[in-house]
Amino acid sequence: MKAALWYGRGDVRIEDVPEPSPGPGQVKIKVKYAGLCGTDIHEYVEGPMFIPTEPHPITGAKAPIILGHEFAGEIVEVGEGVTDWKVGDRVSPEGYWICGTCHWCQRHQYNYCENLAFHGFSAPGGFAEYVVSPTYQLYRVDDRISWEEAALIEPTANAVRAVNLARPLLGEKALIVGAGPIGLTVLQALWASGVSDVIVVQRPGVRLETAKKLGAKWALDPDKDDVAAVVAEVTNGLGVDMAFECAGTESSFNLCLRSTRKGGRVALIGQTTSKWSFYPNDIGFYERTVFGEVAYCGEFAIAIRLIADGKINVRDLITMKIKLDDLVSVGFRELMENRRNHIKIIVSPE
Ligand SMILES: [Zn+2]
Ligand SMILES: [Zn+2]
Repeated sequence: MKAALWYGRGDVRIEDVPEPSPGPGQVKIKVKYAGLCGTDIHEYVEGPMFIPTEPHPITGAKAPIILGHEFAGEIVEVGEGVTDWKVGDRVSPEGYWICGTCHWCQRHQYNYCENLAFHGFSAPGGFAEYVVSPTYQLYRVDDRISWEEAALIEPTANAVRAVNLARPLLGEKALIVGAGPIGLTVLQALWASGVSDVIVVQRPGVRLETAKKLGAKWALDPDKDDVAAVVAEVTNGLGVDMAFECAGTESSFNLCLRSTRKGGRVALIGQTTSKWSFYPNDIGFYERTVFGEVAYCGEFAIAIRLIADGKINVRDLITMKIKLDDLVSVGFRELMENRRNHIKIIVSPE
């Protein structure tokens, strides 16, 4: 089968590899669409970040590894002992491969598993015609969700988790810095949670335009607009109740900190390998809470429901559909050189 393999920094190849077959408790999935993620670009440009160079203790996988962790597809084969899933089921798997025995797995906080592997980094991923998943990863894709949309369940689950961790209350006000796929799903999850005002900060392009389309009354360009003045105006000078850092830059983190009210919450979602500087007093003197967020722990079910019910529109986040052969030459290149015109690029392995 055809697959996209990460060999090293700047070296991703489309190759023919043997089809995987499901072991006991696993299913084989025919991938319909897989989303191209900022994390894939990070691995391509500055990796390895999550890709192991030694065999992973759970999966035995190491580079070269098939990329892709945001995908959905149809079950085409079930392994020994699988009774609750059948051929033809529409599924989207969580990324986690877990040990099931460590401290965190015993507490059912499997996203903290000491030994975890993840599709597309330390287990073969979805940029391939077929992928194998243990059944504990599987969620049923609602029939109201198209295959294209289903590729965005995974990033939506991230956004759902970030918003739930921020504990929004009815009528609160929020700031989002960075309107990529995560920022724009955070925006919609916030609407679903009952916040009254969201200010979005993003450089001009399709991301900023989409933020407006999705209901952000204040969609600001950080280079031109006076964000602090708008935050003050919208919040009567108090600052927003919560801010979501979805850009992964020092300036956006500091903007989030300083735009948040006393006692407010700042979610750190953006990824970077660089060091940042900030004033600790911007946290301490104002009793602000900064918290991290990565991936999910059961939020797939909520994401699927919100997409199916039309409360989170992921359809309008898809800016390009490509074939697997064009993953590097078109997909990676577009996201690196023409990012302002893209939100989510999805890949069909067929
Ligand atoms: Zn991702
Ligand atoms: Zn574990």
